[in-house]
Amino acid sequence: MQQILIVEDEARLASILADYLQVAGFATHWLDEGGGVAAWVREERPDLILLDLMLPGRDGMEICKDVRAFSTVPIIMVTARVEEIDRLLGLELGADDYICKPFSPREVVARVKAVLRRTSGQTPQDQGLALDPPTMRASLDGCNLDLTAVEFKLLAFLLARPGQIFSRDQLMERIYADQRIVNDRTIDSHIKKLRRKMEQARPGCDLIRSVYSVGYKFEPDQG
Ligand code: CA
Repeated sequence: MQQILIVEDEARLASILADYLQVAGFATHWLDEGGGVAAWVREERPDLILLDLMLPGRDGMEICKDVRAFSTVPIIMVTARVEEIDRLLGLELGADDYICKPFSPREVVARVKAVLRRTSGQTPQDQGLALDPPTMRASLDGCNLDLTAVEFKLLAFLLARPGQIFSRDQLMERIYADQRIVNDRTIDSHIKKLRRKMEQARPGCDLIRSVYSVGYKFEPDQG
């Protein structure tokens, strides 16, 4: 049985989430403050974390950073702060998805299942990739890729959503805080440089594919 860690300081909300997740066939564990989360995750290795942003003890972003230092466990950030900058920060920290409060518990269960489907089996390590969000350093087959901040964000974003195709507009919305400074050709040029750097590390590497007239996706090597 897959175990979901719920980190949420509102007891009523946590108990509703736990009920719905248990009915959907998951085991759950609840922590109501941020201080002990990383240690608990290291010890118990849950299959996914639902992580509230505003917590006593240690906030969701710090926890995300702590956990990413030793684990690729899927993390869904839960936040009442919907500003784009928070989403972006969450993305830079390596979260896999976001849910905005208020939410329906049904929607949460659906997102948990979707993230688990997306992330099961294939980890960045399986693809020879290692990403360190705090320093924005990435390596492929042990070679440092020497990415710019934008290239790193593009890679991290696509990598977290394998097989999903994103248009240039969608990538721009998720990568840039200020969209006035870019146009869709800019995305093409960043992707081109990112792919060139990956090919230098691994000749013939086509982990990032362009989908004609649509956009881009990360396509994991199977096997
Ligand atoms: Ca909270």
